[in-house]
Amino acid sequence: MKYDYLIVGSGLFGSVFAYEMNKIGKKCLVIEKRNHVGGNIYTENIENINVHKYGAHIFHTSDTQIWEYINQFADFNRFTNSPLANYKGNLYNLPFNMNTFYQIWKVKTPAEAKAKIEEEKKLANITTPKNLEQQAIALVGKTIYEILIKGYTEKQWGRPCTQLPPFIIKRLPVRLTFDNNYFNDLYQGIPMGGYTQIIEKLLDGIEVKLNSDYFEYKDKWDSIADKILFTGMIDQYYDYCYGSLEYRGLNFETETKNIDNYQGNAVINYTESAIPYTRIIEHKHFENSVSDKTIITREYPITWKKGMEAYYPINDKNNTEVYEKYQRLAEKEDKILFGGRLGLYKYMNMDQVIKEALILVEKEKKNDI
Ligand code: FAD
Ligand code: UDP
Repeated sequence: MKYDYLIVGSGLFGSVFAYEMNKIGKKCLVIEKRNHVGGNIYTENIENINVHKYGAHIFHTSDTQIWEYINQFADFNRFTNSPLANYKGNLYNLPFNMNTFYQIWKVKTPAEAKAKIEEEKKLANITTPKNLEQQAIALVGKTIYEILIKGYTEKQWGRPCTQLPPFIIKRLPVRLTFDNNYFNDLYQGIPMGGYTQIIEKLLDGIEVKLNSDYFEYKDKWDSIADKILFTGMIDQYYDYCYGSLEYRGLNFETETKNIDNYQGNAVINYTESAIPYTRIIEHKHFENSVSDKTIITREYPITWKKGMEAYYPINDKNNTEVYEKYQRLAEKEDKILFGGRLGLYKYMNMDQVIKEALILVEKEKKNDI
């Protein structure tokens, strides 16, 4: 065999795995179907602004080991994500905190805010939330649910909040303090100079073939490596034998504007259902980039169909059951490993992806002894 590992996909998972394996002397080949490395964290410098080509990416984690790991490959700034929500022309702070409660109800103290939420929760008569709508009302009450959550969530996921699992909304903090930090994590920031440098450093000295889809020449790729790490869609790998898993697609509409500041913030969400996009990103605010121009991206969630880029796995009950069948097939494999968001069919943030990749590396090292 020419290679110890063939790595399908040059996203964060594949690149961390390749880096660690290369470090211990394993010969790796990375193949990537896109015309660039990095998967969805890819950034491109345009007009002196690092543009997040596949949507806003903010690194955040509470895991010191992972924070130190990623800091080997870039210096991070102290960016704190504090998005705003625009609903019918009015602006509200996110995540749900005392600023939001003041803007909605004019309440000024935590006790007043708590009482308001309790009052609305009681009216809705929710004991154990069974879906996202009930979970949201239980957390922040019906008014905020209708202004800041319902429209956004239904656009984002393409189905009613009553048909979505409660855990999706539990990602967001609810705070009785005047704190607009979107995340609760200990560490947060943007790599100064963009994310692509991280991937380039991870893949330094490793052979990479771009514009190469694994499925186009599967037999050839299978024949040149002892083992394969696959970070594409697991259902596609098994030729959809148990049916297709569901994903959410995205369209990105990027525009360069001849002004230096368009919206005054990196992220503004549009929470009403009548506006088809979920958010507008203004890239220069991630790094305070100096430029006479500004670049913005509108993000439109779309129905995913085979052949399109799959951005979000939809981890509801049905898809989880189908995925578990594929997972049972995967467990029987000895030559092929699965990893990443699409290989594990799990919505993971970057820190989780690094952690999972390092766990797989350790497993492989043990098997090698
Ligand atoms: P990917 O980045 O999807 O990489 C997989 C790679 O495999 C791709 O390059 C793909 O082209 C390639 N590939 C697939 N199939 C084949 C094939 N058959 N042959 C060859 N190549 C193939 N995380 C955060 O921590 N913070 C954020 O703020 C954040 N924001 C996000 C915003 C959006 C819009 C999205 C979609 C995700 C966001 N994430 C965020 C999650 C983050 O993007 C992922 O955790 C991370 O990029 C996943 O890395 P991966 O390697 O698993 O997958
Ligand atoms: N959400 C919302 N309104 C907002 C932002 C988020 O209702 O303005 C909900 C939505 O259901 C989303 C979930 O909160 O799917 C989690 O938000 P997060 O920002 O973590 O989503 P991501 O884009 O990272 O998947």
